[in-house]
Amino acid sequence: MLRTPLLAAARSTGVRKLVEANPLTAAVVDRFVAGTTPEDAVSATRSLRDQGLHVTLDHLGEDTLDSAQAAGTVRAYQRMLAELAEAGLADRAEVSVKLSAVGQFLPTDGEKIALDNARLICEAAAAAGTTVTLDMEDHTTTDSTLGILADLRVDFPWVGAVLQAYLHRTEGDCRDLATAGSRVRLCKGAYAEPASVAFQDKQEVDRSYVRCLKVLMNGEGYPMVATHDPRMVAIAGDLAARARRSPETFEYQMLYGIRPEEQRRLAADGNKLRVYVAYGDEWYGYFMRRLAERPANLAFFLRSLVSS
Ligand code: FAD
Repeated sequence: MLRTPLLAAARSTGVRKLVEANPLTAAVVDRFVAGTTPEDAVSATRSLRDQGLHVTLDHLGEDTLDSAQAAGTVRAYQRMLAELAEAGLADRAEVSVKLSAVGQFLPTDGEKIALDNARLICEAAAAAGTTVTLDMEDHTTTDSTLGILADLRVDFPWVGAVLQAYLHRTEGDCRDLATAGSRVRLCKGAYAEPASVAFQDKQEVDRSYVRCLKVLMNGEGYPMVATHDPRMVAIAGDLAARARRSPETFEYQMLYGIRPEEQRRLAADGNKLRVYVAYGDEWYGYFMRRLAERPANLAFFLRSLVSS
């Protein structure tokens, strides 16, 4: 019930100022965000590596309308990738990029600027010896993001995509992308979307997730199963076994700070588990989506405000 207002608040400057100004927010944000600097990102990666986990690093930021800020985001990724390589961790961590953080929404030539900027990040990832996955944002960006993905994959065939099971179109997109060498992260979807494009009912989203998983597991690509849902994790394992996939041919993914024991359990059972680690100052939108996903996250946040 609170999901829609929280997701609306995720894009409200007024609410953002209120939440950010509250000194008590920081402690709760720390649960989901690994720090602010590239050093924090590297240190979180090292700690997760030591627990047998893999990582994808997200330099927080989205929806920029300022080309200088977009260029700053590129520099932040370049610096972080260099530090990752320097620390000998590039075989354990890749990066996740939101195209809206590197210029996709700029009013003039936004898509071209986002493509050029994403290309610079891919070059830095290649130099470091790792890969990039393009996050998926709201449905108005899906065609643009998949178009940029196709352009990038000409030179960097390892660039991964994210598909969101709540969108009606996604089963078809899974079919298109379940090809050799194609890395696809399947998630349920984190934005407020209208009924014209997205399933609204949780059970319908779950059923779509399973249909999409079947396509990806039976295809030739590399499925990345991004969910904390125990049912989806179990079904993914069964489908992988039925498709005779070995553990190196797909992976599970979960967010930093969510179900950490389950992350370690899956890895200890011989699966590849990648943790999505967000860091940086621009945590507001990411944090609000985490609150919207789960009443318990919101309750934790509200309790911390009341009890302090
Ligand atoms: P939900 O339907 O939220 O939860 C199902 C069940 O999972 C719950 O009933 C509970 O049993 C368990 N569970 C969930 N959360 C918790 C918790 N905090 N503690 C304990 N149990 C829990 N979305 C996008 O739109 N674009 C992206 O690019 C994107 N990238 C992502 C990358 C990764 C690695 C992950 C894990 C998610 C990403 N998401 C992205 C977010 C995703 O779309 C969902 O909003 C989010 O993962 C919540 O959905 P869920 O599959 O975990 O299941």
